[in-house]
Amino acid sequence: MNNVLNQPVSVIRGIGPESEQLLAELKIFTIHDLLMYFPYRYNDNRIRNLAEVEHEERVTVEGIVISEPLLTYYGRKKSRLMIRVMVGEYAITATFFNQAYVKSKININDQITITGKWNRHRQQITVHSYTLGSLENSKITDFEPVYSVKGDLTVKGIKRFILLAYNQFSQYIHETLPRDYIKRYRLYSLKEAIRALHYPQNTNDLKQGRRRIVYEEFLLFQLKMQALRKFEREHQKGTTIDYDNNLLKKFIASLPYPLTNAQKRVIAEILKDIKSPYRMNRLLQGDVGSGKTVVAAICLYAAVTAGYQGALMVPTEILAEQHAESFQAMFESFNINVQLLTGSTKKKERQEILAGLLDGTISIIIGTHALIQEDVNFKNLGLVITDEQHRFGVEQRRVLREKGEYPNTLFMTATPIPRTLAITVFGEMDVSIIDEMPKGRKPILTHWAKPKMLDRVLAMMEKELNLGRQAYVICPLIEESDKLDVQNAIDVYAQLVHYFQGRFQVGLMHGRLNGEEKELVMRQFSENKIRILVATTVVEVGVNVPNATMMVIYDAERFGLAQLHQLRGRVGRGDQQSYCILLADPKSEVGKERMKIMTETTDGFKLSERDLELRGPGDFFGKKQSGLPEFKVADMVHDFRALETARQDATYLIESSSFWKEQEFAFLRKYIQESGVMNGEKLD
Ligand code: ADP
Ligand code: MG
Repeated sequence: MNNVLNQPVSVIRGIGPESEQLLAELKIFTIHDLLMYFPYRYNDNRIRNLAEVEHEERVTVEGIVISEPLLTYYGRKKSRLMIRVMVGEYAITATFFNQAYVKSKININDQITITGKWNRHRQQITVHSYTLGSLENSKITDFEPVYSVKGDLTVKGIKRFILLAYNQFSQYIHETLPRDYIKRYRLYSLKEAIRALHYPQNTNDLKQGRRRIVYEEFLLFQLKMQALRKFEREHQKGTTIDYDNNLLKKFIASLPYPLTNAQKRVIAEILKDIKSPYRMNRLLQGDVGSGKTVVAAICLYAAVTAGYQGALMVPTEILAEQHAESFQAMFESFNINVQLLTGSTKKKERQEILAGLLDGTISIIIGTHALIQEDVNFKNLGLVITDEQHRFGVEQRRVLREKGEYPNTLFMTATPIPRTLAITVFGEMDVSIIDEMPKGRKPILTHWAKPKMLDRVLAMMEKELNLGRQAYVICPLIEESDKLDVQNAIDVYAQLVHYFQGRFQVGLMHGRLNGEEKELVMRQFSENKIRILVATTVVEVGVNVPNATMMVIYDAERFGLAQLHQLRGRVGRGDQQSYCILLADPKSEVGKERMKIMTETTDGFKLSERDLELRGPGDFFGKKQSGLPEFKVADMVHDFRALETARQDATYLIESSSFWKEQEFAFLRKYIQESGVMNGEKLD
């Protein structure tokens, strides 16, 4: 804001050193800080019909006193004052605790407005505040702001300070947003909005005030993100990959299926990026089974046709092995050297691979985090793709990126991050979305069963097995204990071995097996020798066995919706109808709701939106590392339309030349400059 409002709160008449200190505890230092310290909620003082008020709800009513006040004392100094009040057609009791002095002020037939907690059973209100006369003539406002306070500062105190600041300085509140935008979206001016949030006149007034501040918060945030993106593009030279389009077309034609339109679209977006002189920094989202692997293969091949090397990094060894196998098959007739490098690669082989990467004889390398070790160096790394992006830390991604000079980077994720979060958390990245499934897929049928129905579930499994199909059984997740997870899997395995004895072969897979053991189990499962695979969440990502048509998930309520969806994606990969059974007995309403949603949709994006609503953005990514920004008023989930609008506007502004010149944008420019993003400093 401007200089006047940047003065310390002590210049406000009525705020002395002591008050200044109280405010400092709330991190309020300047007049601007104080004016922008908004209520976190509002008491709704609108008169309501008591028939609609819940038990224990706070309510304001208007009525006529129909009895003399009755005062009783109890305990040592405690008093209870009761009056009967006619509210509409209700005769209710208004009870004042320890306010004996009120007795002399209230008379029969007085008109009174009271606010307090409604006891439905006793038809009584415990009075919190009252005024004589009707609401219209009282000082009670429809919406009474409630501020969060700390230390010795009371809500009453902060209200007084804000009023002082508002009365003395509101004329200095200058507009921060461009006039055009205010007009286009019919926004309140900043001054009006600040007034409305502190002193709302009615619902709409409050809504409009909020809307303005929300938009501003989002716009500022997105401007910062877009400025960072612009900066990165302009200052970090990328590799221009001049791929051979004809070879690429031949490769695509060699695939056993036509690409979906969504696949074609994202491939075009990615290819355009890698051909540009900028460094690609793109996120590819696509639901489980939407066909991201082939997109990765095509893009890596593009890099190879231009003489570069490509790397695909995945979170588990099994997945790396599967990808390596399918890539080797795909590229066999194209004479491309694809290799696998994981933690269990033997020493001698590892040496050979490292040499091949350094001299360029290996074109595509697929691996786990083993790829980011110090001694792995490339001749000419042009494109790095990480699959299941959320499994890798930011740091790991950075290390890999720094292996090439400025390799283009693509992050792939099957976790359908709700768009709202994607454009916030990954605001500085470009986002491509595969929003279409390959044709002919049958949606997985999901049922929710109580654990006591296990027998019926196993009978159903047996029916599938008798048809020649296979099944996964996923074991309960024990939070933060890999060891207990394994124990669980062993128990369930023993149970099922016993149950299916002499009929079907059961296998066991968990994180404590070494690479060879895992591979053996996985191979036996994919060759249909093992019919039922009991597993911990290690099978969560990527594994592909199309003959598996049934999955049973124990203690499903312990998993996040996104994770359940990932797990479920292991079935439904062939043309047979597939089933997923959630064994769960959730106690809470939210828990039940989550199970229900799983049975209702197989659309990962819808699921994640609902999960986000149910759990909130903090839980969605897991607490700390979420990197979610904090807004004063705005709520990323509920105000997502505003967020999208702000993002578009910010993108446009950053790219337009007038933004960097004209006076109208001075405030926004200054804001960006002060945030440091244009100096290459990182966002916090
Ligand atoms: P994800 O996006 O979960 O990584 P995959 O890449 O593993 O999905 O693809 C799932 C399955 O769909 C694979 O068996 C793959 O061969 C197949 N597939 C990919 N693209 C298509 C397509 N356009 N048409 C038909 N099948 C496809
Ligand atoms: Mg995949």
